[in-house]
Amino acid sequence: MRCLARLTAFSYFSIAEAERHHAGARKGQMLRLQGIAVSPGVAIGEALVLDNEGFRIPRRFVSRDGVEVELERLAQAIQDTVDEIEVNRQRIAERLGDDYGAIFSAHIQMVNDPRLREELEASIRERHYSAEYAVSRVLRRYAKVFQSLEGPHLAERASDIFDIEKRLLKRLLGERREELAHVTSPVLVLARSLTPSETASMKPEFVRGFVTEIGGPGSHTAIVAEGLGIPAVVGAGSFLSDVSGGETVIIDGDEGVVILRPNEETLARYRHEVDEQLSLMARLSTLKDLPCETREGYRISLLGNIEFPSEAALCLDRGLEGVGLYRTEFLYLTRTDIPTEEEHYEAYREVTIAMGGRPVVMRTLDLGADKLSMIPQPEDENNPFLGLRSIRLALKHVDLFRTQLRAILRASVHGDVRIMFPLISNVLELRRARMVLADAMEDLEERGIAFDREIKVGMMVEVPSAVVMMDRFVEEVDFFSIGTNDLVQYALAVDRSNKDVAALYTSADPSVLRLVKMAIDAADAADKPISMCGQMSGAPLYTMLLIGLGLRTLSVTPAAALEVKRVCRSTTFEHCQSVAQRALELESARDVKTYLREELQRLLPDQPI
Ligand code: PEP
Ligand code: MG
Repeated sequence: MRCLARLTAFSYFSIAEAERHHAGARKGQMLRLQGIAVSPGVAIGEALVLDNEGFRIPRRFVSRDGVEVELERLAQAIQDTVDEIEVNRQRIAERLGDDYGAIFSAHIQMVNDPRLREELEASIRERHYSAEYAVSRVLRRYAKVFQSLEGPHLAERASDIFDIEKRLLKRLLGERREELAHVTSPVLVLARSLTPSETASMKPEFVRGFVTEIGGPGSHTAIVAEGLGIPAVVGAGSFLSDVSGGETVIIDGDEGVVILRPNEETLARYRHEVDEQLSLMARLSTLKDLPCETREGYRISLLGNIEFPSEAALCLDRGLEGVGLYRTEFLYLTRTDIPTEEEHYEAYREVTIAMGGRPVVMRTLDLGADKLSMIPQPEDENNPFLGLRSIRLALKHVDLFRTQLRAILRASVHGDVRIMFPLISNVLELRRARMVLADAMEDLEERGIAFDREIKVGMMVEVPSAVVMMDRFVEEVDFFSIGTNDLVQYALAVDRSNKDVAALYTSADPSVLRLVKMAIDAADAADKPISMCGQMSGAPLYTMLLIGLGLRTLSVTPAAALEVKRVCRSTTFEHCQSVAQRALELESARDVKTYLREELQRLLPDQPI
């Protein structure tokens, strides 16, 4: 019954009618979106839209001579699309009856709508748009018209238009998915979502920033954006239907704001901001070779977080003293088969040699099964962050784990390599991981291959249970690194990659501060080194607090290094201690943030916060 009621809505409602009903279609006006700031800086540029299926919709004009060819391409794409829908219509009508087939008849009418065709052809003939650009522009405008209509089911028609757009684009672009890696002119990427590996494939000289409709502040996509040093905003809500590509966009990665089609005044304001950023960066670059220490000479060791071997150079470029977190799982993310021991080894050797004797902390595989196409998917993975991920996955697929450990051990002869296990939540789990490491050592010994027998073994502190049990863990490892990205999500029960709970996801929560302090105090009491490598350690807002809590090593995204160093060099240890003491007395994340902002503002009035 419900189904049939819905079907009656599929009788054809022409585009011309829709436009007549549509009083105030927004056309080309400025649109401001609020999302979540995940990578600082401001970028201004041309939009490149990546929809769900990864189609790139380029702004492309054709020469006068190319117009006829484009018109033919369009006509052919329309004909092919109509044929394809007709085949679907017949198949469905045969199986389910004509009422269902009517859905597709309406689609065919839409594709054949004379008004639509007229406008598409006019865009090509008069404006010299390419066929795909014309399709994207015109159909998205129609979709907006339908979206704005009141009345049952009419707004839903917008999704039919998107469907038709997708079919036409597929015909026009073929299966050619223009990978982000192949972008060769400066753009800002606008997407529904981006995977960490898609983000990682972006070349910062061309992809100057991105914004996604979904995604939360702690997602790896956000972290990779910061690694690339490009402004990024995630979780901006649905907006892709408002753009077709080629429009001017501003991404404000400091405030989490995205502005589509800015007016002149807004553009001028943001251009001024970009100029200011450039002059701040120039001033910061003078700090590169200066030591990271407070005004009275209290030394802080600044290390870098990397995802790819090539980023080792970035660490050196920013004057970092080593790699405090190498997220080795990115080796798996960019491929569909299992990396061999040799491939692991090559990557680890490259980083180790590049770092020239400086410490390199290699964190072992930290992925959920959902991200690994090469292993069987668990059946009950309803809560991937609580499921078979990270060290748990490694211990279940011991062969995979041992292969990686052998490769790390082999790389250890090239420098100061250390091993770190992620997501340790109990002592037995750590012991099991160490046993696999012992097996890997034995394998190498049998093969007569050299490695560092005294290699330091550490663990991440990123599960509250690990903090609580620190007094036991100190007996079992050589060092610790606090992973606040996960610690925050597990302590506060907030999914780090969900935009709808992003406001709750914050390192400033007093419970997080207490957990961090507990971990540092326990490690200090046993004289075991402890550092931090979560995003909190690279945010200048927290630098004084973290030093005051007792951290002497911070591992940060290379792009954040100089700002953190600037805070260190501007303050004193005594002041940091008083900041930490005061922050620990506060009772809400809001109070903590306000207080830390005031302190940072006082210290560095020109620091963007
Ligand atoms: C963390 O959890 O803080 C961390 C550094 O690891 P990842 O972000 O890779 O989970
Ligand atoms: Mg983590």
